[in-house]
Amino acid sequence: MGSRSPATEAPTVVLGAGYAGLATWHGVHRLARGRWPVVVVDRHPVHVLRTELYQVGAIAAHEGAVSRWALPLRTLLRGDSSSILTGDVTSIDLKRRTVRVDGAPLDYRELAICLGSVPAYYGIPGAVEHSFDVYRLSHAEKLGQALVESLGSRGAEGAPVRVLVVGGGSTGTEVAADLATVRWPRIVGRPCPRLTVLLVAGKVPLLAGLPEPLVRYARESLHRSGVLVDEGRNVREVQADCVTLDDGTVIPFDVCVWAAGVEPPALVSALKVPRGRGRRLAVDEHLELPGYPGVVAVGDVAEFVDPTTRAATPATAQAALAEAPVAAANLVARRLGGPLRPFRYRERGVIVSLGRTRASGSVGGLSLWGRPAALLKLAVQTGVRFAGPRGGRAPGL
Ligand SMILES: Cc1cc2nc3c(=O)[nH]c(=O)nc-3n(C[C@H](O)[C@H](O)[C@H](O)COP(=O)(O)OP(=O)(O)OC[C@H]3O[C@@H](n4cnc5c(N)ncnc54)[C@H](O)[C@@H]3O)c2cc1C
Repeated sequence: MGSRSPATEAPTVVLGAGYAGLATWHGVHRLARGRWPVVVVDRHPVHVLRTELYQVGAIAAHEGAVSRWALPLRTLLRGDSSSILTGDVTSIDLKRRTVRVDGAPLDYRELAICLGSVPAYYGIPGAVEHSFDVYRLSHAEKLGQALVESLGSRGAEGAPVRVLVVGGGSTGTEVAADLATVRWPRIVGRPCPRLTVLLVAGKVPLLAGLPEPLVRYARESLHRSGVLVDEGRNVREVQADCVTLDDGTVIPFDVCVWAAGVEPPALVSALKVPRGRGRRLAVDEHLELPGYPGVVAVGDVAEFVDPTTRAATPATAQAALAEAPVAAANLVARRLGGPLRPFRYRERGVIVSLGRTRASGSVGGLSLWGRPAALLKLAVQTGVRFAGPRGGRAPGL
């Protein structure tokens, strides 16, 4: 698979088997009808349900049996395991139309860059070294293990374990609410001290973008779950056991979780092409990189700005799943010749989990909160789990 193919038979290559990559692969595979190879490359032989990685308590409870969050690619790609290449994408050469996977060249005729995102640390000293995150399954597992060890090492009467979550977007909010509502003694396997959670939301308003009544509900719900929320101050530095805020306040912690936003992986950042916000790849209305016909970027790596509304697509699975069919159709149009499809984005809504039984959301202009919102979130997650990675229609929220 890693050897060079004659130009005429060069495959359509999809980099990344997340929400964007799998949906793009399915779209191209369906339209190609076996006429040329369509290869998906990922460093893992599984598709990770990243939107569910805020469930740190449940991940910790599974002690390594995390198949609930990681679906094997060979079962998702219609039994077409010859299409899967497991390895690290180490470089992309847009001029020569080749990528390197674990150092070996792989030529492409069309390319979909769907490599997702990594945590953005904004150059804040100590943030990389002294914090956990939930942007990868292995990272969420490490966080769960650290909490179990910390809780288990103290007697039931010991001092509470202080968790500080940085970032007041939906990821930080969901993680904070999950940590505060998990039944830790069940997971630790014996009585253990309390876990306190402080959410340092930063200068961007808590859950910016959600309608105000839903933010109010979320704030109340966090309060009821015992989560303290610090708003209006950014983190300036992270040390092994404390953070310093930009007004000089020092806050001690036992475990720090970084959930303050994402940016493209370094390999994508290295490409010399136009950028959107947060260094995402700027794509045109066909989701192609300007100047590179037949090369699309989909999902968190890409930013499409709607020419009419000037709104940029968010870094969400929902946007990735909306972009993928258009990107796939355009890759096939480039191969066979034919008109390209323009992309337009309309957000269906957003639902933020607020612990085991509550959520807050806005869907199709309707606001909902509490248990009904939590049930809808579960239904959407189930839909995405069973339809999206298998090539079915899954809106995601
Ligand atoms: C806790 C949490 C909750 C979220 N909740 C929601 C939600 O409710 N709704 C929503 O719409 N969005 C949500 N999101 C955002 C959503 O998860 C992302 O927007 C989505 O995963 C983006 O899809 P993607 O395919 O671009 O990237 P990913 O799903 O991250 O996939 C990228 C793939 O590329 C692979 N890869 C990366 N680099 C390399 C490399 N060098 N070599 C080989 N393979 C590589 C990775 O292994 C991965 O499989 C949430 C995110 C988090 C962290």
